[in-house]
Parts: sequence; C-alpha cells; structure tokens
Amino acid sequence: MTLDGTNSWLLAEPGARVAAVVDPGPDDEGHLARLAGLAAERGQRIGLILLTHRHGDHSAGAGTFSALTAAPIRGWHRSFAAPLADGERLDIGGLLVDVVATPGHTSDSVSFHLPADRALLTGDTVLGRGSSAVLHPDGRVADMLTSLRRLRDLAAEAGTVILPGHGPVVVDPVPVLDRLLAARYRRVAEVRRAVADGEVNPDAIVRSLYSRVDPLLHRVARASVEASLHYLDVTDDPLRPSDHAP
Ligand SMILES: [Zn+2]
Repeated sequence: MTLDGTNSWLLAEPGARVAAVVDPGPDDEGHLARLAGLAAERGQRIGLILLTHRHGDHSAGAGTFSALTAAPIRGWHRSFAAPLADGERLDIGGLLVDVVATPGHTSDSVSFHLPADRALLTGDTVLGRGSSAVLHPDGRVADMLTSLRRLRDLAAEAGTVILPGHGPVVVDPVPVLDRLLAARYRRVAEVRRAVADGEVNPDAIVRSLYSRVDPLLHRVARASVEASLHYLDVTDDPLRPSDHAP
C-alpha cells in the first residue's frame, strides 16, 4: 500500500554535517542507497531515522538503512529503544524538530513540526491527496479528530506547508484540514444513519456506503466503518445516535 509511492524526507540545517531521514520507506536497496547518497553529496551523515508510524511502506527499510548508516531508529511505539514523546524537541545538527503525537490512522502515528521552516511532516495522518483511513481497532476516530484539530492549530501560522507520507506537498493546509475534519464527521454520520436504518453488519455498511470501492480496498473500508461504529458506541459527541443499541 504505497499508493503512488512513500515519501522519504531528508532533513538537515543548511551547512550541517548531520541529517535525519523521516520514513526511509520499504526495504528497497536502491532507494535507501540513494537517500544515503543524497546526504553524502552534501557532506552529511545520517544521524537519526524517524518513523511516522510502524506500517511497512514507511518503516520496513528502517533496519537496513540503520545498518547502512549506523543511525538509530526512533518512533512512537514502545518497542523502540527510545520511544518518541509528545512535545519532545529534537536537535538534529541545529535543526529543531518538535514531536507531535497524532494518533488516529494508527495508535502510534506521530507528526514532526519544523517551526523555523513552518513545515509539518504528517505521515499518513494527512496525505497529499485524499483522506487517510482510521484503521480499527488500533486507529480511533476520536483520536483522529483530535489530531486533525491539533495539526490545524499548528498549520494556522501563515506559510505553513504539510509534507505528507504520500502524495504532493500541501501548500495551503488549513482548508485541507477543515475538509478532512468535515469528511470524517460526514463519514460517521453516514454510518450512524445506516445503523439507524437497522444495519449493523460492517460488510453490509461498506457495500451500501462504498458502492464503487475497489475490492482490494474493501478491507481498509471495512476497518474505517468499524472505527466509526466504535466511535458511535463510545463517544459523548452530539453525533452519537440516542437510539443506537450497542
Ligand atoms: Zn500507514
């Protein structure tokens, strides 16, 4: 599921001797060698490998890349030797990078804010095009809504750009984040209506809501519908239907 490919981001302060890579991507020898080569051309060594979340299209090459560069790997998940913490400030050869917890797509999804560059690296939380799936049971709709609002607050500073995990750079992120929030609420409302109509089977809801869904994406659509069903069960949000029996 790399869509049109995973974006790997090479970050360094101009003139610095050290760089970081966010999401080295799948275990693709050519791609990883190219990333290391780009840094070497600028006289930089890779000092840190950061992961936006643990999905293989972002992280599978991290071990190989770490062996190639001797750089440590850091991500949100507790399985890492030094898990990232919300609000932590990283200093990569003078480049300051703030860690922003943005769960929702997965529980371990994290974004990176470069305040001096007004850039947000969002992994799969915000994509260059389309909207990201909340993957039940690990991903939670309530978390995604909170994360999108948090990113919207950070993106409100004029000139902020989003550097996503897939697709092109988002140069005007606030309206995009507003659309993603509205789309998420719309999707929940659609599931709520299906439930109110007596449909509780996730596969049947997927068929009624996503009539044109590619069979390959059915699993993702189902996980998204299940995430909405879970949200409707647990949330105090006004969207929660009063007539929905658990
Ligand atoms: Zn992902």
